[in-house]
Amino acid sequence: MPTRFFNTYTRELEDFRPLDPAGKRVKLYTCGPTVYNFAHIGNFRAYVFEDLLQRHLEARGFEVERVMNLTDVDDKTIRGCRQLGVRLAEFTQKFKDAFFEDLKTLRIKPAAHFPAATEPRYITRMIEMISLLMEKEIAYQAEDKSLYFRLSKFPDYGKLAHLNLDELRPGTRVSSDEYEKENIGDFALWKAWDENDGDVKWDSPWGPGRPGWHIECSAMATALLGPEIDIHCGGVDNIFPHHEAEIAQSECCTGKKFVRYWLHCAHLMVEGQKMSKSAGNFYTLRDLLEKGWTGREIRYALITVNYRLPLNFTFDGLAGARSALGRIDEWVARITRASGGRNAVSSLPALGIDQMSELPLEYRTLFANFFDCLDNDLNISGAMGQFFDLIRESNRRFDQEELGVNDARSLYSAWLTIGSVLDFQRSDFFELQIPEDVSKLADDYQAARRTKNWAESDRLRSMIEAKGWGVRETKEGTKLTPKS
Ligand code: AMP
Ligand code: ZN
Repeated sequence: MPTRFFNTYTRELEDFRPLDPAGKRVKLYTCGPTVYNFAHIGNFRAYVFEDLLQRHLEARGFEVERVMNLTDVDDKTIRGCRQLGVRLAEFTQKFKDAFFEDLKTLRIKPAAHFPAATEPRYITRMIEMISLLMEKEIAYQAEDKSLYFRLSKFPDYGKLAHLNLDELRPGTRVSSDEYEKENIGDFALWKAWDENDGDVKWDSPWGPGRPGWHIECSAMATALLGPEIDIHCGGVDNIFPHHEAEIAQSECCTGKKFVRYWLHCAHLMVEGQKMSKSAGNFYTLRDLLEKGWTGREIRYALITVNYRLPLNFTFDGLAGARSALGRIDEWVARITRASGGRNAVSSLPALGIDQMSELPLEYRTLFANFFDCLDNDLNISGAMGQFFDLIRESNRRFDQEELGVNDARSLYSAWLTIGSVLDFQRSDFFELQIPEDVSKLADDYQAARRTKNWAESDRLRSMIEAKGWGVRETKEGTKLTPKS
């Protein structure tokens, strides 16, 4: 089955084929944060979904070149730095640093490029693009000295958001970057300086001012990836007006189709409302870390719901993530032990998706299904179902002592491949691994219990405990846990 995505532009599931004639390189643009505050976990839902997209494409053999921009000048960043009386760059740096730290905590792969709007090369490019639009009379300077995009010149405006064109009201003008559908009108490309902007301004052929938010993305995207991009992502709130405006500006400048596949994730919700800074119902990543949740648990909670479904944020959801990861950890520990321990697994290669025949027959379909589900518009909940079936099935065989060392090793190789997409491995996994002597005692303990030699099993249990480990019987067999 080919990889398919739901394209917001056509509202259809489409087979994915990149522009690259060799079918290998994929150009991916993702709208990044506005760095006026710490990003909240609603924002991170979007970035985690994009991470899953990139990792799945890579597992399928594509080479992904991802760009994530940083919006470091707009109304909000200017307001923030003016309130504190610091320079814009100083104000935004703090939030840029925090953002990169948060990406690491959530194990989001770094993009190939993180362009920031205020970098001189991009400001120059924004001015070039606006100049071109002026030449073509698609842009005009209004009496407030700002420059606007003339919507009447781009009949396709509204197609991405599937707006009824009759609703459009050309002739009105919108200088704010974010607005409601009722206010459709010519949007700002360049905002003339006024005193509220303080020292935030750049020279341009039209007087001092600053770029609008939309032209920032068009300029950075085309500067780094060229006029045609394979996939462009964001949250659904970006569709209108931001992405609509990106299409209009870029296509009027380049004459090429800007984006082939538009993918948008649904919102992270809190009690039926979108999590957002303006609604005040948000948690930053830092808030949750302070409450004792780990980046890995938050990643799990954000990534495992299909991206086009709204995801309700709850602490029960986080607790569910914690226990699911516990099950995965135990299974990985088990196949590590059965493979011969840390040294044995450290040299094992990841199993290519096309090398499935190395897996014991019973697991092949589950392994293949994991990736097939992801091929189907990133159906992660289906994929996780397959993965947990794989865990359940192999645990059952372990319990019946049917799994040999070779089978365990090929399962470990399969886990490396699945893990390259999910990135759920505990970072201290190997430190938590059971030393060989403890593992041997546990085997003897299990054998003693099987033959109902309770005196011997009690003696072995005390020996295990003396070595700093707890041992207990569960439905899934004997479990060893380090004593804290
Ligand atoms: P912003 O900093 O508001 O421009 O948002 C950055 C990214 O986060 C954009 O792709 C938004 O669509 C996305 N986003 C914002 N709030 C949410 C939310 N509650 N759920 C999912 N994505 C969101
Ligand atoms: Zn953008």
